[in-house]
Amino acid sequence: MRVQWVRVGLTLAAVAVMVAQVGGCGQTKVAGQPSVMGDIDTTDAGGEEVTDGPTGPRDGVPNADLAVENGDGGDMDRLALNAVADLYEYWGKQMPGEFNEDFQKIQRLVSYDSRRDDLTLCGASTREFVNAFYCGGGGEDLIAWDRGVLLPSLSEMFGPMSVVGVLAHEMGHAVQFRLGAKSNMSQSTPTIVREQQADCYMGNFMRWVVKGNSKHFQLNTGKGLNDILATVFFIRDPAGLDSKTEGAHGLAFDRVYAFQEGFSTEDPKRCAAMDVEEIDNRIEEKERSEGDEADKGEAPLDDNVLGLLQESLDEAFKDNNAEQPEITVNGGKCEKGKSTSPVSYCPDENIVGIDLDKLKQIAQPPKDGVQPGADGAGIGDFAAMAEIASRYSLAIQKQVGFPLDDENAGLRTACLTGAWTESTIDEDPNSPDGKLHLAVGDLDEAVAELLQDDSLIAADINGDQVPSGFARVEAFRMGYADGDTACMEEFV
Ligand SMILES: [Zn+2]
Repeated sequence: MRVQWVRVGLTLAAVAVMVAQVGGCGQTKVAGQPSVMGDIDTTDAGGEEVTDGPTGPRDGVPNADLAVENGDGGDMDRLALNAVADLYEYWGKQMPGEFNEDFQKIQRLVSYDSRRDDLTLCGASTREFVNAFYCGGGGEDLIAWDRGVLLPSLSEMFGPMSVVGVLAHEMGHAVQFRLGAKSNMSQSTPTIVREQQADCYMGNFMRWVVKGNSKHFQLNTGKGLNDILATVFFIRDPAGLDSKTEGAHGLAFDRVYAFQEGFSTEDPKRCAAMDVEEIDNRIEEKERSEGDEADKGEAPLDDNVLGLLQESLDEAFKDNNAEQPEITVNGGKCEKGKSTSPVSYCPDENIVGIDLDKLKQIAQPPKDGVQPGADGAGIGDFAAMAEIASRYSLAIQKQVGFPLDDENAGLRTACLTGAWTESTIDEDPNSPDGKLHLAVGDLDEAVAELLQDDSLIAADINGDQVPSGFARVEAFRMGYADGDTACMEEFV
């Protein structure tokens, strides 16, 4: 969050972040606006039932017989090549079936170790290039991956399916290149459109894997899919990179949306349809401010900011005529009933009890290359504030008459937290008002928190999470797009 200080002339207040405005339910929707109306429930991930079956490479399946340049014959190359083989099979069906085009395999698959290999690929050295990439054009048609650092670290953090996900994204770029105008591609297509499509194609492939079609891999829609979403999050651009900048992949919030769109349909043409107009209408990664670059939009979790947070929540939920709970620094515990550290809603006292030290740890800015929330790593100030907001929303739910531990309580809570989030958008960035406002990286911090195993944003009063991270993010996004009334109507 950023505090828009009332100090005339200060850059921080004068230059603020623009966040896309999204309309309410009754308004006409532009195609692709990130509103999810209906059919989000706790047992559903993008139309697939939430399961906790096996996830990862299938046992006893022969490895793909594909040639790779510069490979070392190790686990990472095997994993990558098996992924490529299954992607060939998938696109070998989809391109003729959906786009009326034959699929041509990738001309060169290249493996390298960024710690020591100095290959020149597509005009650049692979040394210290911790990445995976596709390049096409100029007689080149190549997918390359860093088996030394990128793939093993992803695999360690999010499991081997994260490697499959990265290759599915790169293959998405290869397919774009092959489809050209049929995938809305031209020389001048901005990076953000290419990236959104590639994430969407990746999602569509993962649906195919979930359905049991993949020879080498299987994926469950519980923890398995949560980890894929976390991978999409992890390979995000740092907040503050302009969406028009070369190499920008978009915010995790936008990327996860693109992935979810692809995952939620049988038809990869949905991804091909993503174009400049659609993306301009819904993308959250818009203009960046120098002020945001300087302070990263992180606010310290001190008394002043807690007071502003209280005001912000009171304001956001005032139309419900509920008695508003007080944020209370008390170690995060309730006198009676269950505590859900680091923030508990205590219905008897009608307070939101917080453990400030633990929240300050969560509020530490995320670091590059470190999995957010793992081993005490920070997620960001907004994650901590949204946890408080989620418990606050339980007070509202209670007084409006909802049970706080029914099946939909977690989704309703995530949705209401999204609604509060939207209410903090600065309508008038040029006139400082001393209130708490959404900074551009905040939505990513919300997504990161939602994908934690112990997420509070999508938990009921007892701290029990909605199992599907997919549904958690959808519910949050729904509140963000459609407001609190929609949350109360949807999750009954
Ligand atoms: Zn990409």
